[in-house]
Amino acid sequence: MSDVSRLPGAFEHHWSWQLHAACRTLGSGMFFHPTGERGPEREDREEAAKRVCADCPVRRECLTYALRAREPYGVWGGLSARERRAVLTA
Ligand code: SF4
Repeated sequence: MSDVSRLPGAFEHHWSWQLHAACRTLGSGMFFHPTGERGPEREDREEAAKRVCADCPVRRECLTYALRAREPYGVWGGLSARERRAVLTA
């Protein structure tokens, strides 16, 4: 029989925080920009997404993931892509 004691555990725990996400049933349209979106439209959509994130019980986990993965698009953990780039370069 194989010794699996040194293998990593179930990967599920890395993603289980998503089960508690406030955005879980909202779809991606609020969090990711459609093609051609600019200026005030984008700002309004991102602010709406950030309001959802503000009350999200897994905001920290979400932001940590997005920063580690260097997610290039969308609002994650209450920060826009531009804001996350600023955090990563600071
Ligand atoms: S922090 Fe925002 S993007 Fe992340 S899971 Fe929560 S609601 Fe969704």
